[in-house]
Amino acid sequence: MATKMLQFVKTSGEMPAKRTAEIRRQDWLEVYGPYVRQKAEEQSSRCSQCGVPFCQIHCPLQNNIPDWLKLTAEGRLEEAYEVSSATNSMPEICGRICPQDRLCEGNCVIEQSGHGAVTIGSIEKYITDTAWAEGWVKPPTPLRERDQSVGIIGAGPGGIAAAEQLRRLGYQVHLYDRYDRVGGLLIYGIPSFKLEKEIVARRAQWLADAGIQLHLNFEIGRDATLQELRSRHDAVLVATGVYKARDLQAPGSGLKGIVAALDYLTASNRTGLGDDVPEFTDGTLNAAGKRVVVIGGGDTAMDCVRTAVRQGAVSVKCLYRRNRANMPGSQREVQNAEEEGVEFVWQAAPEGFLGDDAVTGVRAHSIHLGVADATGRQSPVVIEGSAHTIEADLVIKALGFDPEDLPTLFDAPGLPVTKWGTVKVDHRTMMTAVEGIFAAGDIVRGASLVVWAIRDGRDAAAAIDSFLVAKAAALAVAAE
Ligand code: FAD
Repeated sequence: MATKMLQFVKTSGEMPAKRTAEIRRQDWLEVYGPYVRQKAEEQSSRCSQCGVPFCQIHCPLQNNIPDWLKLTAEGRLEEAYEVSSATNSMPEICGRICPQDRLCEGNCVIEQSGHGAVTIGSIEKYITDTAWAEGWVKPPTPLRERDQSVGIIGAGPGGIAAAEQLRRLGYQVHLYDRYDRVGGLLIYGIPSFKLEKEIVARRAQWLADAGIQLHLNFEIGRDATLQELRSRHDAVLVATGVYKARDLQAPGSGLKGIVAALDYLTASNRTGLGDDVPEFTDGTLNAAGKRVVVIGGGDTAMDCVRTAVRQGAVSVKCLYRRNRANMPGSQREVQNAEEEGVEFVWQAAPEGFLGDDAVTGVRAHSIHLGVADATGRQSPVVIEGSAHTIEADLVIKALGFDPEDLPTLFDAPGLPVTKWGTVKVDHRTMMTAVEGIFAAGDIVRGASLVVWAIRDGRDAAAAIDSFLVAKAAALAVAAE
């Protein structure tokens, strides 16, 4: 029976139950509970089925959102899952951590008309979690096996998406990663309260079940050069992400107790996964009992402040040089952090750090937002005589990431990079200037989003397929 859509006129938007901040502070579980079926159907029926679906247009994967909302409203969940997974390699992950307020939901037409967006992310999560529970998520099975093999460097979302697509096409796929687990930033960067780790581990097992060969603890540059890998495979994809933390050169920046965000988050995630992490155990990368100051305003900074709360910090402050409206991080995450007790110190930036051996405070000055620069963002200007001290025992630098020097690391001086160090590709073919070597994800775009890495991984897989089909055809002609 077809359910009527356009119910937004009489049904309000409703997220799944949100756990209270008091409870959230005590554990590492996700913020929102799941929808029950009736709620997912009801919320899906609010969609206005626009002729021009702006949610879909603003989704990097062009997910066919109106169709899977309609199928969910009609109770046709398995079909909803088929449609949703046709364009997205990990919908259960996007449903949890995409910044929907800036993408699909932010562009939902009923949001623009003041009715509140359809809760697209939570419904996507509901559909895919149901699909896993019901056994509808099957490992890709190729129609025919092909002899050609592809080596993928990096088992983050970009590499995983490419691996899945190439395996579906029957290629022999080898996924290499220097970490001991699959997932990239999904496993060691993003904390469990945004993305529970079993969700990532389940995908890793699914890749192995699909016949993808996983080579973990295998670092290109240490265990093989790029050229050696290229000679093993018919094509290689570089999906290594960006890991060089931006640093802060200021007096006292070498003091003990000033740490890099990703080291801090990785230690926390590893500890949560049951690993023995000496720097966590000895307190170096543990906020328990400390006054914590996090410097930065992006997703990484938000993850650090909320991790520090859960580790039992005495106080947690976030220092950001611009204001709330100009933060790069998701507004939802800022709100979650505030609810959990984080204090935001807007328009403030460090000028130095105090302490003899270990840090005892951050010397900060206040910022005035001046005229907009070429990007349209107001530039921060220091207010003279505004210096003040914020006491701290642990300072976490979350200032963003740049690419590592891949040509040197990979012993591949011929691999072209941009002036920012990202790998240069021909955007029509996703191939670098080195024949048969492709690149995708953050290492091409710079630090970005999971959904863009998935998109790039899928595009790279299609480009690699075209390249390998053409190569096989050329060999066949030559052999005649
Ligand atoms: P990555 O996920 O970084 O994966 C790259 C992989 O390559 C890693 O596993 C790494 O070990 C491996 N590798 C690197 N070099 C080598 C080598 N030499 N040899 C072998 N393997 C190698 N995005 C969102 O959409 N929502 C969020 O909420 C969000 N939160 C974030 C929080 C944090 C703390 C951070 C740092 C980022 C966050 N992002 C978020 C961004 C998102 O995680 C990235 O854009 C995305 O993971 C990029 O995917 P990728 O596959 O390109 O790279």
